[in-house]
Amino acid sequence: MKMLPLMLLSGCLFNGRFLEPDPPIYDDFLVHFLKLGSGDATLIEVDDQVIVIDGQYSRNHLSDYLDQHLGDRPIDLAILSHFHPDHWRGLRPVLEDREIAEFWDSGLFPEGWKGRQSKGYVEIREDLERRGTLVRGLGEREPAFELNQPFVWDANDRVTFTIFAATNRPTARDENKGGDIINNSSIVMRVQIDEWRFLFTGDIIGRTDDDELIDIEADLVASDFDLNAQVLKAPHHGSQSSGHPDFIDRVFVGGDGEPAFDKSYVVMMGWSLDLGAPPTGSGAERYEAMKPNFKLLSNDHERQHIYCTSRAEVLRCDFAEDW
Ligand SMILES: [Zn+2]
Repeated sequence: MKMLPLMLLSGCLFNGRFLEPDPPIYDDFLVHFLKLGSGDATLIEVDDQVIVIDGQYSRNHLSDYLDQHLGDRPIDLAILSHFHPDHWRGLRPVLEDREIAEFWDSGLFPEGWKGRQSKGYVEIREDLERRGTLVRGLGEREPAFELNQPFVWDANDRVTFTIFAATNRPTARDENKGGDIINNSSIVMRVQIDEWRFLFTGDIIGRTDDDELIDIEADLVASDFDLNAQVLKAPHHGSQSSGHPDFIDRVFVGGDGEPAFDKSYVVMMGWSLDLGAPPTGSGAERYEAMKPNFKLLSNDHERQHIYCTSRAEVLRCDFAEDW
């Protein structure tokens, strides 16, 4: 039997769990696109403020990461893009255990994931309100913001949010369709920090043959919204049903037909680890084939965080190991 490299092991394992490597030093802001399991989880730090968007599938990995990285600092804003387990499960203990100043969701949650967990979700939402958290549903049922109207965040005036979609529709009885409708309820929003723009898309799906499902991407492409952003969080983990080239163009190409920015990135957070193989047709190759004017960072197959920050007026996004 070969000897395992003990030095490597001793640096990684602590009390039987993985210690995360330190994030890069930054002096401006830092966006952590985390790979802690399947699904999406993003941590944004601007000055002293902390924003968390989604929590991935693993129940404790985000919690552990925040413990290690933030200590007991409160979360200024937590956002659930949509009520699916690969975004919700890891966020739940954060909402339950940490001080949360503000919480947003799409407002669509009554039937939950295959009927499970939704009762607990409603209770958690109510509990947050009892604890003094400002809870907002961004969708059609509880509209909190006007679409396409940028608003400056109360907690930090360097941060501006613009909501482009958060569509609530009654959930269908059919289980799979219900899943797609919840995907399509995802909050689509731009988070702008100074001049840097990040477009979060949750799990919206685009092309579909189902007449009852709306094509959120096509709606956005047809809108007159300014969707330009330097960083696009790939919709629905890069699945075949999302990321239509017209939509990608709307994000990265300016009104004059030229690239809107010198440097642009697609960040793909994903599948594998807990949920198994990526869905057919997902993944880097399809995006790579689309346009040469963005860099693709996909952490689909490895446990790798992706970090973004700006330095000397240049935006840099990269895998953890390349910092
Ligand atoms: Zn998802």
